Amino acid sequence: MERRKFLKNSSLTAAGLVSASTLASCKTETKPEVAPLATVAPIKPIVVCTWNFLNATNKAWEVLSAGGNALDAVEQGVMVEEADVTNETVGKGGRPDRDGNVTLDACIMDKDGNCGSVVYLQNIAHPVSVARKVMEETPHIILAGKGAEKFAYEQGFKKEDLFTESTRKQYEEWLKTSKYETTINIENHDTIGMLAIDANGDIAGACTTSGMAYKVGGRVGDSPIIGAGLFIDNEVGGATATGVGEEVIRTVGSFLIVELMRQGKSPQEACEEGVKRIMKKNEGRKDFQIGFLAINKNGETGGYCVHPGFTYREYSEKGHENREVTSFYE
Ligand code: ASP
Repeated sequence: MERRKFLKNSSLTAAGLVSASTLASCKTETKPEVAPLATVAPIKPIVVCTWNFLNATNKAWEVLSAGGNALDAVEQGVMVEEADVTNETVGKGGRPDRDGNVTLDACIMDKDGNCGSVVYLQNIAHPVSVARKVMEETPHIILAGKGAEKFAYEQGFKKEDLFTESTRKQYEEWLKTSKYETTINIENHDTIGMLAIDANGDIAGACTTSGMAYKVGGRVGDSPIIGAGLFIDNEVGGATATGVGEEVIRTVGSFLIVELMRQGKSPQEACEEGVKRIMKKNEGRKDFQIGFLAINKNGETGGYCVHPGFTYREYSEKGHENREVTSFYE
């Protein structure tokens, strides 16, 4: 009531200050319709993800081709991998930390720069959806550990045992030596990062992982960190990362890739530059993997990895393509 009164009074005051000459110049003009100078090419939806996660891009494409938005596409796309217990690096069935806790990290970012993230989340199979709830239902960006788990239950998520018979057996085997390596075993991780453009030309991205197998309890990688594991700028493009999270965080990797694209580099050139920048600081090291994947506003894609064998999946109107990426050490 008070606010309404204030607004009413202030508009009256403002109207009272308008001079007669200004009022006289306020007439409605009908302008002739001007034809647009150039025809803008119609925007074509596209989705890409790290590695060969065929079912994940299929799902995202299903959403995009039905006219769905990029945010729903990336969420539903990566959820496929979170639910796949044969993928032992994401969601349910992800390998535990060295204390035997399966802890998940994920984030999501939309066209308006809204983002949400969960770190060290336990007992919940779909961390990306909890991250989306953080984005949409709270004034915060990151929720961690017990707080994130409690929030998830409040939002209706169910408690689940994230171990599978296979990951429990592997963990028991690992305990016999408890050999913890700070350098990543390149076979031991496969985060899914996904980027999509919808029919409106809007970009969104998501990234989800169980992180490094047998990591120190409490460790959080790059994947749920906005700017490191994922970054979207709807004016320019988006990027996501996979590999040794510590190195990606150190260079604010995904933000770097998007900024390189803003300066005019193609997605491919930007990913190469990002990887090379990291390698310059790690000269001689061949024992780890860093991969970036990027998409720009025109729907061009690129990817690059420090280790051979990195591929990314692309789904567009042309169909499904598995792109082999030229890697740094080939
Ligand atoms: N980037 C992930 C992390 O460091 C791991 C991975 O991509 O495989 O947690």
